[in-house]
Amino acid sequence: MTTSIQRVGVVGGGQMGAGIAEVCARAGLDTVVCEADAPAARRARERIADSLQHAVQRGKLGRSEAESAQWRLAFTTRLTDLADRQLVVEAVVEDPVVKAEVFTALDKIVEDSEAVLATNTSSVPVMRLGRATNRADRVLGLHFFNPVPVMPLVEIVTSLHTSAQTAATAEEFARLTLGKTVIRSKDRAGFVVNALLIPYVLAAVRMAESGFASAADVDAGMELGCAHPMGPLKLADLIGLDTVASIAESLYEEFKEPLYAPPPLLHRMVEAGLLGRKTGRGFHTYDRG
Ligand code: NAD
Repeated sequence: MTTSIQRVGVVGGGQMGAGIAEVCARAGLDTVVCEADAPAARRARERIADSLQHAVQRGKLGRSEAESAQWRLAFTTRLTDLADRQLVVEAVVEDPVVKAEVFTALDKIVEDSEAVLATNTSSVPVMRLGRATNRADRVLGLHFFNPVPVMPLVEIVTSLHTSAQTAATAEEFARLTLGKTVIRSKDRAGFVVNALLIPYVLAAVRMAESGFASAADVDAGMELGCAHPMGPLKLADLIGLDTVASIAESLYEEFKEPLYAPPPLLHRMVEAGLLGRKTGRGFHTYDRG
């Protein structure tokens, strides 16, 4: 079963944007990905092609379905190419200024006044992004999890201005079209999952920083002692240490609780470009090929 949304735009084709675009195309939707420049658009295309191929190799997707999904995808560097979209999901870097600029531009570009403008932000208040437009009632958070084709959860985040109709349309889309499980959250930094997850990840960073335990032992402790599929520092590497630091800063700014404060080691690693899997090194090292 599908909803009336057939034309989707995704702004930002990094880890999350590429995953969101992939699940939309796999669900039969006409999907346009807008990236910052041509090399980034090419990387987004390659990222999705690799992921589709991987799904075929693992028997999760038929070859012809993967080909059809690729036909439904288009890549651009012009936001104006999203003018006819019924839903746009913003998934650019976790920077409130960049995100607000995207929303202000989308407000002018997207023609359908009923279109839903969603953000995949992990921590920027949805209200702030809604207020960057003249249609705050149509703006909400649609928070996917990494890797998007695999993780079943979507958090729907409504601001004080989001209309009930917008939330219902987005929930129907996530549940019926994409087959995700939805939980609802109010518009507080971190929403439900990151408000719980990030203090735990930061505690693990502090343990490694103080020399209390090695990164490998911290991860092994939680994987083998608590049956977590991935230890907290591997998880931080998967999320991206820049993204973890940004979410922690937003949580700290919102609640002023020391447990949300990003430890110095996290900042230094971000400054060093050690962002985790996406750069090949974080708390662990990865084969970038
Ligand atoms: P990323 O760094 O992998 O990708 C961000 C992409 O945005 C880059 O490809 C960049 O070129 C592009 N971009 C930057 N400015 C742009 C612009 N003005 N127009 C178009 N594209 C632009 O980051 P990510 O991990 O994909 O995170 C994206 C968003 O998703 C963030 O808000 C993050 O908090 C959120 N999120 C991340 C995760 C995670 O596990 N990484 C999970 C849930 C939500």
